Amino acid sequence: MFIQNIRDPLIRDSNNPSFVQAPAQFNNCFPAENLGFIPYNTPDRLPPPRFFTKVSPMTPYIYRVETHCHTIYSKDSLTRPADLLAACRKKGIDRVIITDHNTISGALAAQKLDPEHVIVGEEIMTRAGELLAAFVVEEIPPGLTPLETIQRLRQQGAFISVSHPFDVTRSGHWKLPDLLEIAPLVDAVEVFNARCFSAKMNEQAQAFAVQQDLLGTVGSDAHTAFEVGTASLEVPLFETAADFRRHLRSAHPRVRRSPAWVRLSSRYAVIAKKLGMVRV
Ligand SMILES: [Zn+2]
Repeated sequence: MFIQNIRDPLIRDSNNPSFVQAPAQFNNCFPAENLGFIPYNTPDRLPPPRFFTKVSPMTPYIYRVETHCHTIYSKDSLTRPADLLAACRKKGIDRVIITDHNTISGALAAQKLDPEHVIVGEEIMTRAGELLAAFVVEEIPPGLTPLETIQRLRQQGAFISVSHPFDVTRSGHWKLPDLLEIAPLVDAVEVFNARCFSAKMNEQAQAFAVQQDLLGTVGSDAHTAFEVGTASLEVPLFETAADFRRHLRSAHPRVRRSPAWVRLSSRYAVIAKKLGMVRV
């Protein structure tokens, strides 16, 4: 028997309170902080395919996707593309969208190593906040207006989400009027970011997505290999940005928050690079 609770509108099995089944359109009804890992025992799903395994038409039908992660090509990460890919393999990530700050160089380097599993993305600092793009072909420079950034991404068919919009501790967060202006132009909002300090920031993003009738993405925002897969999406098989956009509607999130200390790794990366201790 399933109970739908208005304050906590997850579908819960009343006989087993720890069991949580993500609804098909999770963006409209999940407080992700409460989700934890979604167990695989839902009858409508098969286990996910493993990274580097062939997906046969007879077997699994979902990819586990890391939608937000960084490499050493970001100023605040020291993760080399090969190490990121190794972590993805270890953690069963089937598709990884590499979203370095204002560059696609790291994603391209990783894609050379593994063309099948890497999707080129970019986290772009606009004048009003950060956008999170996937299926990027041409790198977008930082510092453009949000509208111009979106326009350039649209021209190349990219998928566009909005990074951690309500995380006021980050320089890339959005002010509400700016966010309202771009809402009709983007594909999704990042409704769960594993690096957000407080649960409230993610809940605000979820509420905003619901209000604006936007889809949601979840991401680890991994700056270290350790964080890869902390928040991931299980998405029906896709190849293109259009597929991804379409299938996101029936995606399942698997999320938990990263420990606060992971942010120290980003500080360390910035300092180490400034001091010339590390080179790309
Ligand atoms: Zn990021």
